[in-house]
Amino acid sequence: MRSLLVLSALLVAVFSQKVFIGDQVLRITPISQKQLVQLQELEEQQELQLDYWLHPSSTERPVDIHVPFQSLQNVKVFLESNDIPYSIMIKDLQEVVDYEEMEMKASRTVSRNTDSFNYATYHTLAEINAFIDQLVAENPGLVSKTVIGTSYEGRPLNLLKFSTGGTNRPAIWIDTGIHSREWVTQASGVWFAKKITTDYGSDAALTAILNRMDIFLLIVTNPDGFEYTHTKDRMWRKTRSIYAGNSCVGVDPNRNWDAGFGGAGSSGLSCSETYRGPYAHSEAEVKAIVNFVKANGNIKAFISIHSYSQMLLYPYGYTYTQVPHASELNTLAKNAIAALTSLYGTAYRYGSIVSTIYQASGGTIDWTYNQGIKYSYTFELRDTGRYGFILPANQIIPTAQETWQALMTIMSYTNDHPY
Ligand SMILES: [Zn+2]
Repeated sequence: MRSLLVLSALLVAVFSQKVFIGDQVLRITPISQKQLVQLQELEEQQELQLDYWLHPSSTERPVDIHVPFQSLQNVKVFLESNDIPYSIMIKDLQEVVDYEEMEMKASRTVSRNTDSFNYATYHTLAEINAFIDQLVAENPGLVSKTVIGTSYEGRPLNLLKFSTGGTNRPAIWIDTGIHSREWVTQASGVWFAKKITTDYGSDAALTAILNRMDIFLLIVTNPDGFEYTHTKDRMWRKTRSIYAGNSCVGVDPNRNWDAGFGGAGSSGLSCSETYRGPYAHSEAEVKAIVNFVKANGNIKAFISIHSYSQMLLYPYGYTYTQVPHASELNTLAKNAIAALTSLYGTAYRYGSIVSTIYQASGGTIDWTYNQGIKYSYTFELRDTGRYGFILPANQIIPTAQETWQALMTIMSYTNDHPY
């Protein structure tokens, strides 16, 4: 009997998706500097296999930890014995993952065009790639697709270009999904793509932008990870690259850039969710963007979109030194958030990465800012932790709509302030 159980557990591990039965997400509210340090030390305990959704930053900010069932008792005893307050944010992670999958399957239809595409549900990589091709076919004078590279496992990085003509026009870059499990970002990217095609020619502000500038949109920035979240492990964040000598797969593509690479707020351990990789730009997905940015020296705004925690951030993350344009970036962030909040009242915080959350090295927008792209921003979309990465699909469209208000503020400002 025992060997049968072991065998069936092995079969599950080999053939099906990772399960999260009994796993919980704990929301921890550290009340002292000492407790923050204790929570940082807890993360180093590799045998507990903890997945930090929100890292310790300050006593003002919660820490969210996905705790596997087998570590729950140990973690709760640790928290209680140190008087660290916590609550249970998600009481059985498998239940919410199952619900999400059920909803996705129930709403699955084959769309013949981008008008009948269901923007209010999550989609697979194949579905998003089909959407991209449909959008290009429907809008030949406005939208084109370029493959700017391939992922570690050989998947194309399909970049959409929205352009009304000209050569080497000033441009705006938007990417979503560099962390694969942040599904509301790729879903919002799809919605943005459609929104650009419907608003061009009818919305004065967007039309003015596209009459002078191009917009680049990379919806699935980490396709290997995204495919993996659909087929093997819904909670996968990193790339899927393999390096000799490493015990774990994947690199955090938002710690892999050549901006303070290897510094604080990134890990040298391959099993860490913030593993920076063996060297800067080691990841094919990162390198493809680096090459593209260098070859297209005219990108004026670079916006990299993550979830969750509702924040709009600008450089730096790797150093406490203020960027020279901090005041302008702060004012623009404030205006962008005012526009975002005006739609549904969603509250956002904004500021530099290092002052708003914590020191994090090797991040995307620190590199793009140092390349001379002044308007470099990172979003953290909804929510603030009720669902975390498993945001219900009925929030996709409202999330995309409100984010679009902020994006339009940044894009219009960039268009109106040539540099
Ligand atoms: Zn992220």
